[in-house]
Amino acid sequence: MQSIVEPGSVVGVLGGGQLGAMFAGVARRMGYRVAVWDPDHDAPAHRIADQSFSTPFTDHDTRERFVDMVKAMTLEWENIPAELCEWLEQRRPLHPSSAVLRVIQDRLTQKQFLASCSLPVADFAEVQSGHQLHHVISRLGLPLICKTARSGYDGKGQWLVRQPSDVAQLERVLTTSSETRWIAEQFIAFVRELSVIVVRSVSGDTRVYPVVENRHEQGILCNSRVPASISSGDAEAARELSVRAVTALQGIGVFCVEMFQTQDGHLLINEIAPRPHNSGHYTLDVCTVSQFEQQVRVTCGLPLGEVRLLSSAVMVNLLGDEVTAVMSAEGSRETFSTPGASVHLYGKRVIRPGRKMGHVTFTASDGETAVASAQQFMSRVKIPPSVIPSHS
Ligand code: AMP
Repeated sequence: MQSIVEPGSVVGVLGGGQLGAMFAGVARRMGYRVAVWDPDHDAPAHRIADQSFSTPFTDHDTRERFVDMVKAMTLEWENIPAELCEWLEQRRPLHPSSAVLRVIQDRLTQKQFLASCSLPVADFAEVQSGHQLHHVISRLGLPLICKTARSGYDGKGQWLVRQPSDVAQLERVLTTSSETRWIAEQFIAFVRELSVIVVRSVSGDTRVYPVVENRHEQGILCNSRVPASISSGDAEAARELSVRAVTALQGIGVFCVEMFQTQDGHLLINEIAPRPHNSGHYTLDVCTVSQFEQQVRVTCGLPLGEVRLLSSAVMVNLLGDEVTAVMSAEGSRETFSTPGASVHLYGKRVIRPGRKMGHVTFTASDGETAVASAQQFMSRVKIPPSVIPSHS
């Protein structure tokens, strides 16, 4: 059993994006000091850190200083080099472990692992070159989605092949790309996308959050609704599958299991994030204990917190330029005066298309009121309102 890291101690977080910043804010509220390591000087968590490092993750001097300073560590991004994590975890507790990262960092390894544990996933195959594509298509059929095995996120590094005429283009991509490992997956005509946050401690104690229903556009999460508009039986199945997946991984930390629900009600796991997740941001505003507080608790060996949903919520991401509408004087007056709206801005200096700049959580005693409130907001700030998950 991990001993408790006492408040007042320094905890380390690898990666300093908005997830690291939210972790740091909550850790500080709980009495901890926080060391952040992110090579990007502008990463949001540096502004909240007690100690911050912005050297590359390959810097050996920093890893010595970082590990000497902290009592325990966590991470907010699955692509932190696994070799660094392996070195760090031999010296101080680090959750999740480098072994979990090695499975998750590579989409193909991750899917092979899930399939080997008899966990349901879309049919998939490895693609190493353009030449193999025809063979893979004859096996999986069309449409299919081809993804780089490593370092893809928010829909980057993905190609959808709908019809035979799309194949030549993908062949060219595969032939000219510097990436050598790809995964092709059957394209799932899902009825909805769901996700569940699962927390698992060193002793195997587990907490499961309610099922969230998500809408993505071009691979990027636009909004999330909790609880999902599904039957209690389907919700229980999604939660149970999520716990099975995290337990199979022997994961310790906070995990998000993303799933597709098909027309006939089946669930397929799309991917697992070994950290708090954008679709779990609602927990900051409408749960007794947020996903970030659970991350502090697991990292510091504290008992896990009670998971209780206090109200329905819709979380709307502010992507790219959408944030400017909220940050103008008029926009902020309107947004801040909306009952039940909670605004989170990440303080990123550079706006890029699709970049996650902030989010707003709309809370209400029932789901439809939260949806209506979010929809009004989205039409005011010119976010297409059609993408909100509504009735089942
Ligand atoms: P990913 O980066 O794998 O999480 O994919 C981002 C988004 O692309 C998902 O949330 C889905 O909306 C879509 N997507 C990914 N894989 C598939 C698939 N096999 N079938 C249908 N849609 C997919």
